[in-house]
Amino acid sequence: MEKLTAFNKRKFFYFLMIFFVLFPVVHSDTISEYEKIQENIDKDEKRLVEIFKDIHANPELGFQENRTANIVDTEFKNLGYQTITGIGKTGVAAIMKNGDGPIVMYRADMDGLAVKETTGLPYASTKVGKLEGVDGAELPLMHACGHDAHVTWMLGAAKVMSENKDKWKGTLVFIAQPAEEPGLGARAMVEDNMYKKGVPKPDYLIGMHTAPIPVGTYVAVPGARMAGMDQIDVVFNGVGGHGSAPQVAKDPVIMSAIAVTSYQSIVSRAIDPQNAAVLTVGSIQAGTENNVIPASSLVKINLRWFNENDRNIMVNGIQRINEGIAFSYGLNKDMYPKMIRKGWAAPLVNDKELTERIERALQSNIKGIENLKNYPPAMGSEDFHHLVLDNTKHIYSYILVGVADPKVFEKAQKEGKPFPYFNHNGNFMVDLKAISYGVKIASISLLDVFNNK
Ligand SMILES: [Zn+2]
Ligand SMILES: [Zn+2]
Repeated sequence: MEKLTAFNKRKFFYFLMIFFVLFPVVHSDTISEYEKIQENIDKDEKRLVEIFKDIHANPELGFQENRTANIVDTEFKNLGYQTITGIGKTGVAAIMKNGDGPIVMYRADMDGLAVKETTGLPYASTKVGKLEGVDGAELPLMHACGHDAHVTWMLGAAKVMSENKDKWKGTLVFIAQPAEEPGLGARAMVEDNMYKKGVPKPDYLIGMHTAPIPVGTYVAVPGARMAGMDQIDVVFNGVGGHGSAPQVAKDPVIMSAIAVTSYQSIVSRAIDPQNAAVLTVGSIQAGTENNVIPASSLVKINLRWFNENDRNIMVNGIQRINEGIAFSYGLNKDMYPKMIRKGWAAPLVNDKELTERIERALQSNIKGIENLKNYPPAMGSEDFHHLVLDNTKHIYSYILVGVADPKVFEKAQKEGKPFPYFNHNGNFMVDLKAISYGVKIASISLLDVFNNK
């Protein structure tokens, strides 16, 4: 080994000076700050898990999230946020102004689903509720899409941000959004003049969704990540009558049956096979009695697409098939099937720069975290970006966060299943370890976006 000469000693000394003086200040302190924040999130875990269990046990359907909105509003107020409630029925905005800097919006959706919970968890939902605009029996409700975790993550991050105001500058806006599942809530908030009621228009929008991948993994990938979506109802009008005398009736049950099978040829025969598109009929409702031909029937359709052209091919195809059926039944034009366009969502396209920036922040600050970059884009949809779609600035990133117990996930894979359970399944489960994990992802993403010029 070379002996240190006096000159080398001096150089070595200077090197040490630079290393110990500069490096820790510029770099290590930032790391330890983020580590400290994560330690505090771990300390807050018990409280966060209690919030999660409570919301999980009390799911509410879209635009009926009164209880959840109340919890959210109270918590934000306690943390020092200015809140605006009742936007788009049950939506809540929470604002914290903290000097000059970017305006960053973070959104969580609040609604549950009409799904019967079969997890057997001690905090499983036993709640029932009625879908908006639908008569009939009460349905079992469940947070089967993990929006209970989304709300908890948001509240956890809100605490971190309010307790660490010295670590960011700008304006932070949290949005608790109603009715994501029917694809209506984000637009309802915008159409209810959210931006005229005091919510600042953001420079950046961030959102997160549960995914049935292991806790510790996430998906932050730029580009098209989720499909565009349409919810369409079709009402077939016929002439009701006696089941024994079809010749004097016009049977809408047969009309809808023909329609459902004919629709399936649209995607298979009219859409470019290189493109991804889906047409699903999720419900046919007609009649009540064995021997009565009803006067009308209702068909509920769901479309998924990645470009406007494919969307038009499907919508126009449905229309032509409907009219063709009505024509073949000799119906008058005024009795032709009615198409009701309900909710829709544009394809979700993650901003490249923002998404890569968040990925860098997560990778370098959360231990053992893994970005599953090859996770394919989903045919599922979101309305989160509709919060900013009509603004001049619409830079957004939507991250999937793993919520499956890694052991349960591994077992499922060994059994040849891609996931232990998927969102919307009655067995869908958010592992409790995912609660603090999601809060860490949300908090570090937010801090990083504020601190990057
Ligand atoms: Zn869902
Ligand atoms: Zn969802």
